[in-house]
Amino acid sequence: MIFLTLEKKKLSEFLDALSREFRLVVPEKKGEKTYTFSHYSSFNKVALEFLRTILPPKKFFFLPKESLFNIGNDFNINSCSIDNADYILFGLHPCDLHGIDILDRAFSYKGRDSFYWQRREKIGIIGFSCLPDKYCLCKSMRTDFIESVYDIFLYTLDNVYMVTVRTALGDDMVRLKPELFKECTEMDIAEYKERIKIRDSKFIRIIDITNLAELLTLEYKSEIWEEYSKKCLFCGSCVMVCPTCQCFDVYDSTDMISEYSIRWRRWDTCMRKDYALVAGGHNFREGRAERFRFRYLHKEIGFGDEHGKPSCTGCGRCSETCPAGIDMTEVVRRIRE
Ligand code: SF4
Ligand code: SF4
Repeated sequence: MIFLTLEKKKLSEFLDALSREFRLVVPEKKGEKTYTFSHYSSFNKVALEFLRTILPPKKFFFLPKESLFNIGNDFNINSCSIDNADYILFGLHPCDLHGIDILDRAFSYKGRDSFYWQRREKIGIIGFSCLPDKYCLCKSMRTDFIESVYDIFLYTLDNVYMVTVRTALGDDMVRLKPELFKECTEMDIAEYKERIKIRDSKFIRIIDITNLAELLTLEYKSEIWEEYSKKCLFCGSCVMVCPTCQCFDVYDSTDMISEYSIRWRRWDTCMRKDYALVAGGHNFREGRAERFRFRYLHKEIGFGDEHGKPSCTGCGRCSETCPAGIDMTEVVRRIRE
């Protein structure tokens, strides 16, 4: 790792240089309080103060819908090509970087998913620091810092960004405009440490996740699941916006005049009633409470057992998005009590 600084007023020059070499994607404001990742057009449109985008960056690695292969009239199977994903994603916060780390584990489990990994290995990542709002839970989930996944990370100080260069690609990015970067001084380091303390003090939402897997198992039959399942609309919004949910459906499409049948995969949700429906008509999670509970159990226990850590990054998207006002913090607090 190398630590440098970049003057804040020079960030536009750096992004302009990056956009000439790569397809640069940045956070932009879309509505009054909504942000999305969009292709860079000008520095004025980059939303540096944003907290979370509607959809997480997983959409660049694990596409909402993609064709896996097609079968022609000759019955040959042709794999569908991966697009040239030479993107640089700018502005990913620690929670979303942890989200990518979780997807990396999921898409490597019992074999690498080539569709995911061909994109993942081509896309560069620039992390960016943030301050929490009322939905952020990353401190509780221990995802408020990360030392992997990104190529470079920009930490906001008063007049400069402290820049951590972690990979060879990160080094290449910096070398596009080396004159913009300077060595870190003792004062920068002292300010960085002070900023961390300030950020720590700004977390409003705290949950205790100590022995949570154990508590969720013990409370498997709790009435709380039934209670919340009556409130839940099973719209699946919480799953769609989650940076770590990776359930998908696989289906084929064809028509009578087409030369090809195409096999697709698209995002799906375990909240949907027929998600766990299998041949013969048996449904492993037909009941509402079972489906509501499953999401919590899988995030904390199922994923943790298989991949070594729970699959919630505390990004706050599910609580902010839920049309029924269901707040994950509240559910966990009730279970603990
Ligand atoms: S967003 Fe809310 S209402 Fe919709 S499925 Fe998730 S918890 Fe239920
Ligand atoms: S469960 Fe909610 S808070 Fe946790 S990573 Fe998913 S959207 Fe973010």
